[in-house]
Amino acid sequence: MKFNALNEKHIRTLQHMVAPDRFSTGDSVLDLHAKDQSQHGPSRPEAVIWPLDRNEVANLLRYANDHRIPITGWGSGSSLEGNPIPIHQGLVLDFSRMNRILDIRVEDFQADVEPGVIYQHLNEKLRHTGLFFPPDPGAQATVGGMIANNASGTRTVYYGSTKDYVLRLEVVLASGEIIELGTRAAKTSSGYDLVHLMVGSEGTLGVVTAATLRLVGFPVEYSAAIGTFPSVKAAGNAVFEIIRSGLNPAALELLGPECIELMNREERLGLNVSPTLFVEFHSSSASHLAEVLEMGREICNQQGCTEFRSGLGKAERDHIFKARHALGEMIIRTHPDCGTLVVDVAVPNTAYPEIIAAIGDEMKTTGIMGYTFGHAGDGNVHFNIPGKKGDQKQWAQIDKLVQRLVSKALDLGGTATGEHGVGLGKKKYMAAEHGKSLDWMKQIKTLFDPNGILNPGKIFP
Ligand SMILES: Cc1cc2nc3c(=O)[nH]c(=O)nc-3n(C[C@H](O)[C@H](O)[C@H](O)COP(=O)(O)OP(=O)(O)OC[C@H]3O[C@@H](n4cnc5c(N)ncnc54)[C@H](O)[C@@H]3O)c2cc1C
Repeated sequence: MKFNALNEKHIRTLQHMVAPDRFSTGDSVLDLHAKDQSQHGPSRPEAVIWPLDRNEVANLLRYANDHRIPITGWGSGSSLEGNPIPIHQGLVLDFSRMNRILDIRVEDFQADVEPGVIYQHLNEKLRHTGLFFPPDPGAQATVGGMIANNASGTRTVYYGSTKDYVLRLEVVLASGEIIELGTRAAKTSSGYDLVHLMVGSEGTLGVVTAATLRLVGFPVEYSAAIGTFPSVKAAGNAVFEIIRSGLNPAALELLGPECIELMNREERLGLNVSPTLFVEFHSSSASHLAEVLEMGREICNQQGCTEFRSGLGKAERDHIFKARHALGEMIIRTHPDCGTLVVDVAVPNTAYPEIIAAIGDEMKTTGIMGYTFGHAGDGNVHFNIPGKKGDQKQWAQIDKLVQRLVSKALDLGGTATGEHGVGLGKKKYMAAEHGKSLDWMKQIKTLFDPNGILNPGKIFP
């Protein structure tokens, strides 16, 4: 695709399409929108616009489409695969000011929101209703960014990922046409499921301007436990057995000893420095919760668990999960002279011990050290590898290691990206993962966005 750079005339016209304080070509603004939280290099847009409503978005898209100007959506910029980096420059639409919670319908278990709403703010607002929106990526992410990446989190093993909570979308297409997708009914079998075509499309098919989200009731009883294991492999086996037993944990997080050591240091957790599982269960009765925790203890003990601390109350649980959410940032802080590459793959439950073993083997044979952790309950593992900035040789080795791990995940029937999306980093695996269906994805892209202006350079190799 050939795009046009913004000229004086474009800039003058675009400036008149929004209020003056919502258009910027300032250096610091462009720098802030040049890079997400990934390892990918920056690329500055030519201008940033903060839209306030769908009509502004529609006018901007129509103009950009007519003049072949790339448009990339921006939520909080917390992506980990380069998803919002405007590699073909053009315009970034920053949705942070389009952040109203439009309606909360407690009896329908639904909320209507604009794309710039931060999911933690939505949950704060919902607190008094006894409802919540479960997907919880660690960062301060917007609903628009979560929909675009189909984000997950620690509770996905029980509650599902973002796609399971999107009922209705208002989307502006590249042409500027505004369409409404989906329904407010709890279920539907009416026609093609365009809502879920949009979820996970990383802003390459349309721009989300509003969403109706499904909410769920906050659990009556919940409790957490910590299991310590002699090896990551034993912990991986315990993950598989817990899932197989049907215990339905609400969170099941695996952390390698290097992660525990770091979290102890930064958050004074006082845990044994060993491979560890954080498990959380939700239930409607305290007696059922106690039974489930006891079964969890038995399963972990059978896998060689050396210590199982159960019955953790709210304060301790919150402290541990806060530390877990902050782990990615702790790793970055601990290696100030390094960049950190985040490998995110997911495999079927039965293959979880094998992918964990493969990471261990890689560390032994290559000498490259990293941090192994992840949402183990849904077969999702992260391997964060710090590499010296500017050390080309080391980065080439890391790149090869990542390629081997992703290939292993695909061989095991898994996916190249469990939750961070394709962005720039996982494009090269799309053909291996999807085969001929990648051609159908390309045709869908062309249908929705014939001039390729929406987040160009993403998803497709
Ligand atoms: C410390 C840390 C921990 C994380 N943990 C997790 C985790 O546990 N699970 C997980 O899934 N992710 C995790 N992430 C990744 C990230 O938070 C998620 O991918 C999140 O969904 C990105 O949201 P955002 O608002 O930052 O979107 P951005 O990064 O700004 O954008 C994401 C994508 O959405 C597009 N976009 C933005 N707004 C719109 C819109 N209105 N319409 C269409 N497209 C749009 C962008 O173009 C881009 O392609 C983590 C990130 C960090 C830094």
